[in-house]
Amino acid sequence: MVRFILFVVLAVVLVAVAYVFSQNPDWTGSFEVMGYRLSVHLGFLFFGLLIAFWLFGWLYFAVRRTLAMPAEIAKNARISRQNRGYKALTHGLVALAAGDPDEADKQARRANKLLETTPATLLLTAQAAQLNGDEEAALQYFEDMSKNEDTAFLGLRGLIMQALARGDRKEVRQLLERARKIQPNAPWILETDYELSLQTGELEGAQKAVKRLASRRLLSSVDARSRLALTETDLAFQAAEKGAWRQAADHAHRATKEEPKLIPARSLDARANLELGNLRKAKAQAVEAWRIRPTAGVATTYLRACKPIDIAGKRTAIMELIQANPNALFSQYLRAESAIESGDLAIARDAVQDLPETSASVGVNALKLRLEAMEAGGEDRSPTPLDGHSLPHEPQVCSNCGTEHSRWRAVCTECGSSGTVGLPTRAA
Ligand SMILES: [Zn+2]
Repeated sequence: MVRFILFVVLAVVLVAVAYVFSQNPDWTGSFEVMGYRLSVHLGFLFFGLLIAFWLFGWLYFAVRRTLAMPAEIAKNARISRQNRGYKALTHGLVALAAGDPDEADKQARRANKLLETTPATLLLTAQAAQLNGDEEAALQYFEDMSKNEDTAFLGLRGLIMQALARGDRKEVRQLLERARKIQPNAPWILETDYELSLQTGELEGAQKAVKRLASRRLLSSVDARSRLALTETDLAFQAAEKGAWRQAADHAHRATKEEPKLIPARSLDARANLELGNLRKAKAQAVEAWRIRPTAGVATTYLRACKPIDIAGKRTAIMELIQANPNALFSQYLRAESAIESGDLAIARDAVQDLPETSASVGVNALKLRLEAMEAGGEDRSPTPLDGHSLPHEPQVCSNCGTEHSRWRAVCTECGSSGTVGLPTRAA
């Protein structure tokens, strides 16, 4: 609109000027050029000069465009190159995520050719090499990255992951120190710190890492509690092994506060209190443990805490304990065994019959033999002590690698995974 108005104004002015010139035919200018005398009407001169200026303007514009063209072309080429580079980078990252080693490698090469070295291209190259199984090349890339200020953190992360995979804990520790100086609270640093501390048995360090993760909301409170419970329980077992029952009780107690359903912590809490002479506490903890999952160890602790003086006292104690979980296989087993040991044949028969055939482990068969011997008019062949029983001791098994452990552990000593050692899901 503005342009149109300007155009109209200009046209009106020009027409007016032309009209003025046409009304005054005597307005002429004369001048001498190279000995010739020229006489021109001023109107011609005015419009002639106007056209000359206009032509000059166009010429100037055309020359400038032509001169600027190579720079323009180069700039366009650079932008197009960058765009293709970023496209390759994106495709490469997608291929990495999809686990396609060849494509990742191809795109990494392309991105490197098209883009200047950036942290992203370096990382893509290193990870593509890793995906191709070329750990050595990846190591070299990560090391180069770790020397450059901009990429040091990413490089160190790559190196730490490699050292972790090799199981080189000392190297991980050193690299972690370097990475910590750059970003002390990066989630993966705290996470690695936790795992490493757990595996090297530095449980207090692991607890510190968990607390820092939780305080930065990088770990849900449920996960934080279960991790703290793991470390406390392991500390409790370590203390128990040394016979430091006071410490064992304290650690186990803290573990059960964090995770009330952690059986090893409950049963160790009961055992430690028994050793310390706190019989009431020991019984209460044993009953809680039995409620979660009956085990041979808990039954022993409970009976020892009850200190039965005769077979009737033992039977009463057992009935109190199994009340907490009456339908569990181990409860049924103890009911049958105590009936046999008390010579209560009718109840013993019922109780043994109630034991499921499918879980006829060695213990159940032995109970049947003991019952048959008594029915044949004999005696109980293998009575257990007043504070004992014949429940089978179940192994602690790693759910990750299947290794059996002599005691519960926070970390499997065989495969290094944490929180995987425990009782088999079903009672033996
Ligand atoms: Zn394992």
